[in-house]
Amino acid sequence: MTEVQLQQIKKQLSRLMGIKDGFYAKKFAGLNVEDIKTQADFEKLPFTWKGDLRDAYPLGLAAVPESEIVRIHSSSGTTGTPVIIPYTKKDVDDWATMFARCYQTAGITNMDRVHITPGYGLWTAGIGFQNGAEKLGAMTVPMGPGNTEKQLKMMQDMKSTVLCATSSYALLLAEEVEKRGIKDKICLTKGVIGSERWGDKMRNSIQTKLGIEMYDIYGLTEVYGPGIGIECKNQEGMHIWDDFLYVEILNPQTGEPVPDGVVGEVVLTTLVKEGAPLIRFQTHDLAFKYAEPCSCGLPYPRISKIIGRTDDMVKVKGCIIFPSTIEEVLKDIPGITSEYKAEVDHVDGRDQLTLYVEAEGGTDRTEVSLGVAFHFKELNKMTPIVKVVGEGELPRSTKKTQRIFDNRD
Ligand code: ZN
Repeated sequence: MTEVQLQQIKKQLSRLMGIKDGFYAKKFAGLNVEDIKTQADFEKLPFTWKGDLRDAYPLGLAAVPESEIVRIHSSSGTTGTPVIIPYTKKDVDDWATMFARCYQTAGITNMDRVHITPGYGLWTAGIGFQNGAEKLGAMTVPMGPGNTEKQLKMMQDMKSTVLCATSSYALLLAEEVEKRGIKDKICLTKGVIGSERWGDKMRNSIQTKLGIEMYDIYGLTEVYGPGIGIECKNQEGMHIWDDFLYVEILNPQTGEPVPDGVVGEVVLTTLVKEGAPLIRFQTHDLAFKYAEPCSCGLPYPRISKIIGRTDDMVKVKGCIIFPSTIEEVLKDIPGITSEYKAEVDHVDGRDQLTLYVEAEGGTDRTEVSLGVAFHFKELNKMTPIVKVVGEGELPRSTKKTQRIFDNRD
């Protein structure tokens, strides 16, 4: 933690503690901000987790008078009550500044035409990509999701150069472009891919089919939205804008910091947010920190791409499995696509992992099945049941694709 960050955090905490019945005034009741003199003091503060935010529904997180709130966003309420995040004008502007910096880091300029397919609405995706591109001065094509026919027509007619999408939707579009043989009519040169973790195989497949360079962007609704960090040309982790955020990587079991290079949970503290500042927010995202500065010259620290989520990790026969565990196996197997699905069941008193993969046309399915099972065993000391289906048979999604299904009670 830099001295500037420490002072920003103290200033923010003092303000939050002074809000009568405020979210943090209640959560940190009894805290004397003057007692926080070092990074270690700060790291004794309790975490904020999604449940706290849900309990504050609808506007309990607001840390400014209503006259200063210009917008709300909401995270998807797949598990019950959604979370509402209020934004001030400055928050909206800071977010756009960060997002414009992301585009610049990816080499995108005001001469690009930015085709935006994430959804507009309560969640932060589409509008985040939009405001950032406008701040940069690029021409935006605000498509939103779905209607692949229209997407491809507009992409050709408007000569879009940058595709913003989830990895699932980028793959769907890439496969469609290939199927129709219109690659030479598409002007895309870059893709900015957000909101989903994806493997190298999928990345290579999209890059080849569309002939573009791709950049992983990071963010979450609770903390502005997408755009708080992005990969640079080196593609060795994502730079995080540490003039807006303080990043900790912690052991998800103990809450203690892990050394650089070791995977842990990303925990974020906002430094200058007004509408709904968050202190030590547990993202459930798993990544590691890079020790060395990046050779690209950017001064911002780097975390790895998101390796998994603390909540999509499954334990089978004592082996911890993330989507990335499976991707690591599949990337070495020829003749299959990047798509897969895993199911965990409890059968006859034993846990069992079944892996579905897609064979490309002409591939020997028995060979694929044996190859995947063998290579999985080699890397993970357990053997899954492998089922091979045809290309395109596993579900594609315009949003996030769930890969691992735990059917045990
Ligand atoms: Zn870099």
